[in-house]
Amino acid sequence: MIAEIDDSDQLSNSNSDGHKSNSFDVVVVGGGPAGAAVGVFTARYGLDTLIFDRGNSSLQRCAFLENFLGFPAGIDIETFYALMHDHAMEMGCAVRSSLVETVERADSGGFRVTTQGGDTVDTVRVVAATRYGGEYLHELDEANEMFETHRKGGDKRELFDRDYPDHDGRTPTDGLYIASPTASVELQALSSAGHGARVARAVVEDVRRERGFPEGLSGYRDWIRREGHSPNTESLRDKLRVKIDRDVPDDTDLSAESLAELREREIDRRLDRYLSADEIQRRTERSHDRLLEHIDDDRILAAAREIRAQRRSN
Ligand SMILES: Cc1cc2nc3c(=O)[nH]c(=O)nc-3n(C[C@H](O)[C@H](O)[C@H](O)COP(=O)(O)OP(=O)(O)OC[C@H]3O[C@@H](n4cnc5c(N)ncnc54)[C@H](O)[C@@H]3O)c2cc1C
Repeated sequence: MIAEIDDSDQLSNSNSDGHKSNSFDVVVVGGGPAGAAVGVFTARYGLDTLIFDRGNSSLQRCAFLENFLGFPAGIDIETFYALMHDHAMEMGCAVRSSLVETVERADSGGFRVTTQGGDTVDTVRVVAATRYGGEYLHELDEANEMFETHRKGGDKRELFDRDYPDHDGRTPTDGLYIASPTASVELQALSSAGHGARVARAVVEDVRRERGFPEGLSGYRDWIRREGHSPNTESLRDKLRVKIDRDVPDDTDLSAESLAELREREIDRRLDRYLSADEIQRRTERSHDRLLEHIDDDRILAAAREIRAQRRSN
């Protein structure tokens, strides 16, 4: 069911998680609430995403989670982790249980990420999502801006400067984003996950800009809509064309052909996100079945016996 890859596994070609190479669009360091949320959003956009997760964790120190939205009686940490990682993998992420030791600039201009076991992967972008630590980023800190020295008693400690990233997680180091820790939002798991989603949107928007999407078209929202609320596809396509043409500034550098091509590509993407009533029903059933996979079989059987008894007595 949950197929995370252990540290001892090779990080190169034909991994058992299905990835055929050891280079990724995005590597996320840390698979807690912030990092798992990043992965869900970047993978859903189609970015080849790898999450490394091992080591010091804030969430693992929590006894039981009672204030994450959607779990009326709370949720135990083990099940919560399994759900987060299963979600990230279902969306297309690879998740590996390895400790990242260093992130360095690669000759390609991206990054080379090395694990404690000595394996390496290359990536275009890195998102740091480790509530504690950050030493693995030292090699990137050429301008000495990422860490600050804290003194406690006679001890001196270097801690990651939480003001290094901006509000969307972007940093002065091109291609490096920080989802955790940050100055303001890491105190609760729910806000950490929310911030991860925000940082992921910044990543996706930067990718879209790099792919040529102009201002007004580079923005990104991951929404799914009901088909019933839309007119037929052709008139919806026309409406979207008008909207996009209005949003894109007149002084864009793109030729009319390039702009039309990007616009139609974006319209295709948005139209794919309309679901029929049947499809919503199919996804609803599947989503409930997938949730059951995370619930103890004995609890399911006990609930089933109760339901059967109730139905017989009605
Ligand atoms: C004692 C305690 C109780 C808490 N109770 C609650 C509570 O009841 N409710 C609540 O909302 N919040 C609670 N919190 C806060 C909550 O845990 C954090 O807000 C949240 O977990 C932060 O999420 P994160 O993803 O930023 O960091 P983390 O949860 O710390 O996740 C970071 C992940 O990165 C991994 N990692 C670290 N370094 C590396 C590395 N070098 N390479 C690869 N992976 C790495 C870790 O294994 C970890 O899984 C509690 C915190 C503590 C300490």
